[in-house]
Amino acid sequence: MKPYDLPDAAGHFGPFGGVFVSETLMHALAQLREAYDECRRDPEFIAEFEYELEHFVGRPSPVYHAKRWSDRLGGAQIYFKREDLNHTGAHKVNNTIGQAMVARRMGKPRVIAETGAGQHGVATATVAARYGMKCVVYMGSTDVERQAQNVYRMRLLGAEVVPVESGSRTLKDALNEAMRDWVTNVDDTFYIIGTVAGPHPYPMMVRDFQSVIGRECLTQMPEMTGRQPDVVVACVGGGSNAIGIFHPYIDHESVALVGVEAGGEGIETGRHAASLSAGVPGVLHGNRTYLLQNADGQIIETHSVSAGLDYPGVGPEHAWLKDCGRASYVTVDDEQALAAFHDCCRIEGIIPALESSHALAHAAAIAPTMARDAIILVNLSGRGDKDMHTVAARAGLSF
Ligand SMILES: *Cc1c(COP(=O)(O)O)cnc(C)c1O
Repeated sequence: MKPYDLPDAAGHFGPFGGVFVSETLMHALAQLREAYDECRRDPEFIAEFEYELEHFVGRPSPVYHAKRWSDRLGGAQIYFKREDLNHTGAHKVNNTIGQAMVARRMGKPRVIAETGAGQHGVATATVAARYGMKCVVYMGSTDVERQAQNVYRMRLLGAEVVPVESGSRTLKDALNEAMRDWVTNVDDTFYIIGTVAGPHPYPMMVRDFQSVIGRECLTQMPEMTGRQPDVVVACVGGGSNAIGIFHPYIDHESVALVGVEAGGEGIETGRHAASLSAGVPGVLHGNRTYLLQNADGQIIETHSVSAGLDYPGVGPEHAWLKDCGRASYVTVDDEQALAAFHDCCRIEGIIPALESSHALAHAAAIAPTMARDAIILVNLSGRGDKDMHTVAARAGLSF
């Protein structure tokens, strides 16, 4: 088989990806492609990126055998890739460091980002402080209210948080506003996208930065277990933590790759965030992919107990992996994710992010159907401290 080598030069993953932006951004994207192409081949850039991952992020993150939970389920052995132990508590910083380094290389002193739950905003504000860059984060005003703690974090880190009052005042409106800022200030500004979406080269660049997750697993799993896992499971919002762990495994054909989307209140209710499982191909955020839209082509509001999975599209590489059959995609609803969240807390002593809990729920569902010596590797994309209010409210508590 031909080794996996996508996207093509125009950023296509089969019929997905590409560049769908206004003409005013074409030049900026061409510049970015050129700059990133230099960076990815430059041993000095790679060495500095690795240094930052080791000393600022705390990599490599460990792999952990969830032995008590595996025993209780009575089937496959479940392992966690501990991205929750990274600085700032999730995988997102792997990517924001990489992009901030590209921005510096391009001589751009100002970075912008859009954020929904606020996690990407915090990861961007963190690296902007680290490198002494000006940082502006766009956030729907509804989200600003819902995510007060992350807004305060960003401000502590020196970022300016701009509440967006248009539309539904959530992520998709913040996205439009960030694009508008970029068009206006493209000379001194770098747009840091938080997942494997956006126009080419973003899906490829973000994947490359996040692939450190799967590369570490490729050596850690044989060290721990003597072989590679049978199944790799990750949650999918935009898809960056999932691509990060999937990508180095794509050429290992015996390893099944399973992405878990947010089923929210149930696919049949229409209140979910499952773009791959229940969406249709279309154009969003500068690329062609699966997305959630109504008959008039309007983007539909998404719903999930985990704010970080609330993205109405999905990275184009996942759209391709789904259509060509190399990865499969399933859904886990709010209740199932919450149940896995509580099990993980009590049985393993780890409070996982609600996003990651979707992946854990699927692993817990399939483990009993597999042999005891089978191995499931779950990407534990982040820690759950940020989700205390949501979980407590679900249990009828407040604090
Ligand atoms: C943001 C986030 C996600 C979803 O984003 P992806 O790009 O799909 O990885 C998942 N888990 C955590 C902990 C997050 O913060």
